[in-house]
Amino acid sequence: MKLQYLGTAAAEAWPALFCECESCKKARAAGGRNIRSRSQAIIDDRLLIDFPADTYMHCIQHGIDITRVENMIITHAHSDHWYPADLWCRYPGIAHFDGESCPLTVWGTAAIKEDVEKHLSGANAAGEDRLRYREIEPFGSYDIGGYTVTALPANHDPLAQPVIYQISDGEKTMLYGNDTGIPFDSVWQYWAEHPVHFDYVSLDCTGVLQSGWRDGHMCLETNAEVLERMRSMGLIDGSTVVCIHHFSHNGGPIHDELAELVKPQGWLVSYDGMTVEF
Ligand SMILES: [Zn+2]
Ligand SMILES: [Zn+2]
Ligand SMILES: [Zn+2]
Repeated sequence: MKLQYLGTAAAEAWPALFCECESCKKARAAGGRNIRSRSQAIIDDRLLIDFPADTYMHCIQHGIDITRVENMIITHAHSDHWYPADLWCRYPGIAHFDGESCPLTVWGTAAIKEDVEKHLSGANAAGEDRLRYREIEPFGSYDIGGYTVTALPANHDPLAQPVIYQISDGEKTMLYGNDTGIPFDSVWQYWAEHPVHFDYVSLDCTGVLQSGWRDGHMCLETNAEVLERMRSMGLIDGSTVVCIHHFSHNGGPIHDELAELVKPQGWLVSYDGMTVEF
């Protein structure tokens, strides 16, 4: 599988839009991997995870042909992951297809449903099948474009009906683990009853070097705790690639500093545009 991170920040991005803190000043000065936009990722150039307002620039910057993406899975209804106003760009007269139109299916919990449904009649107005919605439920498994995608409830703002995703292509399996605090007991129970070996694990590290982030989001300290529990259950082993992702400027070190800092523990540190194959 190939996973490309398109955006890697928490909601306010890094540097944050209106922020003059030391971490934001440092990121502005250093540029490159230290500039983080709102979180989004794509698997094998075709399964999109989340749809933030930064989607447009992600596609331009990283050469993503989103016109031919058939499926996007949404983690939750927070604006840094879900910006449905841009679905208007699917409408006839705005999106001209070179040949057959390519239907786009948006998969998400019920919190996403109303937002997509607002755009269905406009997008499909000319009788074309341009936009669809499919509801996913926590602990449900779905065949999405040839991937088996399992949604697991996330320890995050319940109003946004958050899930994290376990995704398998039949050979390799990965966990896309944000936004979430330490997984709920019900998720550990699910893994105990449905054993799996993860080849790749991506975890929420919003708090970075702060400590005690157990609910809503995590930090490095709690990421290590999750990893240890996964290891003890046989969900991961020495072959598993582990990555931290979704960072807040309030957490401290910019990318270049953090990458050095966590090298001994074996963490990859996501950055915008980073591609991993496993
Ligand atoms: Zn977020
Ligand atoms: Zn800042
Ligand atoms: Zn969130």
